[in-house]
Amino acid sequence: MSRATINIVLRFDDPSPTTDHALEREIFTILGELDIPVTVGVVPFGIDTGGLVPLTRDNVSHLVAAHAKGIIEVAQHGYAHEHLTTTPKGSPSEFWDVPAEEQYRRIDEGHDQLAQTFGQPIRGFIPPWNTYDNTTLRHLAARGYEYLSSCVATTPQRQFSPCCFVPRTCDIHQLRQAYAEALRHRCLSSTVVAIMHHHDFLEYAGNPGKLSLAAFRETLRWLKQPALHHAAAPRGKPGCGGKPCSPKTPSQERATALAPSMFAAAKTAFDSHIVDVSQTPYSAPFIIVSAR
Ligand SMILES: [Zn+2]
Repeated sequence: MSRATINIVLRFDDPSPTTDHALEREIFTILGELDIPVTVGVVPFGIDTGGLVPLTRDNVSHLVAAHAKGIIEVAQHGYAHEHLTTTPKGSPSEFWDVPAEEQYRRIDEGHDQLAQTFGQPIRGFIPPWNTYDNTTLRHLAARGYEYLSSCVATTPQRQFSPCCFVPRTCDIHQLRQAYAEALRHRCLSSTVVAIMHHHDFLEYAGNPGKLSLAAFRETLRWLKQPALHHAAAPRGKPGCGGKPCSPKTPSQERATALAPSMFAAAKTAFDSHIVDVSQTPYSAPFIIVSAR
């Protein structure tokens, strides 16, 4: 009998040749010490006052080192994170409603820059601002990308693309809340994709956020505590339709898996049938539950 699992995936967006590398090094050091992997949405071309700055092994050596150690999985975060269009809902986009030839160029050149830097093909795509259109999906599928991570609100119907979809579900500071919510769905497997940006951190040189690196470390230590990783009891039938089950001290009955990568989460959780996505607002903590 299969066991119910809470899959937890971390996603860190925006590192590029022109971002805050000192902060990124600190984050990767903490993740490395605790042996927790993260999927990094790397922007292939940074932008500074002189124009585009292509990614190279020299100007992102900390990313190359973290990748070589297995701390990070690299996903392609667009091309240069440029605001080219605006969606009907008012979100900026580098891909939505952009002419097909321009989308193809951005995806292909961005991919090649990353592949050259990290020495392997890139399998995942994270569209800047989580926005894209069906032209984007078709080209990603044609190029062999294996997953796309955006947000639930913009996750397309599966028939548009053979890619797996691994949408974000909460921000990093909401991880414990999301975990508590996952525990309420005792009879289904659930997935939490927690996203972070530079501006979430107090130590960010730009516009700092509220999460200190010390608090980040504490959250990750909590994630690693043995009580969250005990063997799970066999789960029941998925008969609750994604609704929270009756509370019972579920912490003794669940297993938590730190997915080794977003790709692994896609394979282990999203190949299964997604039963329900909680209907909370975009930035609120929520989870995806699935029958397996
Ligand atoms: Zn971004």
